[in-house]
Amino acid sequence: MTQHAEPTAAATEGHRTDPAATFTELYGGVPEGIWAAPGRVNLIGEYTDFNDGFVMPLALPHTAVAAVSRRDDGVLRLYSTDVPGGVVSLRVDELAPHSGHGWAAYPAGVLWALREAGHPVTGADIALTSTVPTGAGLSSSAALEVVTALAVSDLFELGLSAAELAVIGRRAENAFVGVPCGIMDQMASACCTEGHALHLDTRDLSLRQVPFDLAAQGLTLLVVDTRVKHALGDGAYAERRAGCEEGARLLGIPMLRDLPYAGLDAALTTLADAGADESVIRYVRHVVSDNRRVEQVISLLDTGDVRAAGPVLNAGHASLRDDLRVSCPELDLVVEAANVAGALGARMTGGGFGGSAVVLVEAAAAGTVAKAVSEAFAAAGHAAPGIFDAVPSAGARRLR
Ligand code: ADP
Ligand code: MG
Repeated sequence: MTQHAEPTAAATEGHRTDPAATFTELYGGVPEGIWAAPGRVNLIGEYTDFNDGFVMPLALPHTAVAAVSRRDDGVLRLYSTDVPGGVVSLRVDELAPHSGHGWAAYPAGVLWALREAGHPVTGADIALTSTVPTGAGLSSSAALEVVTALAVSDLFELGLSAAELAVIGRRAENAFVGVPCGIMDQMASACCTEGHALHLDTRDLSLRQVPFDLAAQGLTLLVVDTRVKHALGDGAYAERRAGCEEGARLLGIPMLRDLPYAGLDAALTTLADAGADESVIRYVRHVVSDNRRVEQVISLLDTGDVRAAGPVLNAGHASLRDDLRVSCPELDLVVEAANVAGALGARMTGGGFGGSAVVLVEAAAAGTVAKAVSEAFAAAGHAAPGIFDAVPSAGARRLR
């Protein structure tokens, strides 16, 4: 994989440490197996997943890897090579939501969610290592949840489908860790396939693998990690979510997903007449128009006209910036600098307020565009961004 500028903090190929060796060093013996689950970027469809809408993520080559063995004595031991603090030792029958445990709450929450769902999981030794940049909007948390769920499902022969693993991961994050995320991240990590983007209907989790062979088209999708995270983001997600629910309530529909794009203008008038807050009107416009942009990008991919998706990405960014108001100066700068340097289109991806953007660009121009973005960051006094190719990669799988 090409590194166009500063490599991200995590290595993008292989892993910094061998999880099997770490496992043996910590716990003794050989792990029963090794599993991997990727991070993701979302191509289009943002803040739509909690409105029962559509998203279109692809898996990254960056993965969380877990070396795992079963235990039958109720003990759960967790270790990550990526955080200080050593082994976290817990008892599965004492796991309780919102009880802290820092990073270990993500994998521990998965065992809690599995047991809550009635699966006889009696403990495990788990050694984790990940190349997914954390807190960059690339779903390092979902990678951790899904790799844990898959490993435990395999070892205890639970026979869970990829979608069921995703649902367990999301439940861990929502109910155990306490983060109110939608289902996109876990579904992407569990269900994506190499060379494809995932068209996901978050209402019923029906999905389609959409061929997305960038290299064959002479195209590159760059991920630009701004390496910033603005504190504003924490409350803003809940506020947007509440605003969307308010919009649906005023329109008398279960979810904003139920408002077709053709009815958007009339719905906005209805909302204004009903005295809806100006922000609610903007949020509704974003969600309904972004669902429409997912459809547009899919039909462009299906007809092989991937380049024409560029302006749709730009429109998506403008909507996130102006209507949903979840962008930030660094993300706007990526989009602006990339477009000025000749990109086909760009948008922020993930929750916003920092994190990452995606840039669709002719492969031959990828280096020039990446350099222009880095230079724009330097000129604005921002720290150097991490830039890498989003090669559409495989979802969660057993390695050995
Ligand atoms: P994102 O999922 O966008 O990367 P989140 O805030 O949802 O950001 O999740 C990041 C959190 O997930 C980290 O703060 C940490 O608690 C946990 N995490 C992610 N990767 C690892 C890892 N390799 N080792 C330990 N914890 C991790
Ligand atoms: Mg996350």
